[in-house]
Amino acid sequence: MRAGAEPGRPTAKTPPPTLEQGPIQRRAAVALADHFTTKSPVRSVCSVGRLLAIMPDDDITALRQMLTSRRADGQYAMSATQIYAALTAEGYTVGRGTIGNHRRGDCSCEAVA
Ligand SMILES: [Zn+2]
Repeated sequence: MRAGAEPGRPTAKTPPPTLEQGPIQRRAAVALADHFTTKSPVRSVCSVGRLLAIMPDDDITALRQMLTSRRADGQYAMSATQIYAALTAEGYTVGRGTIGNHRRGDCSCEAVA
């Protein structure tokens, strides 16, 4: 008597899907391909850093001046609240608190030079 299927029991063993055929594997490959890029890696930046990346050059220059200019006594020429008001008046979206954080370098960007 040869070893084999016992009567009354299912005989077919379903083989596990191969890696090549598995739908999960195939989805993962497509998803990974979606991440392929030849662009330079983009650093994560705060909302101020994002503005400094997307604004017209004139506005970038102005915002950098707002962020860094100091009065004779060493205090910032413009407060974060004033800068926030100026940016929003021009239609830019920025976090009010983010301005101060960005100034101090306490954000996801590099510190303001
Ligand atoms: Zn920042």
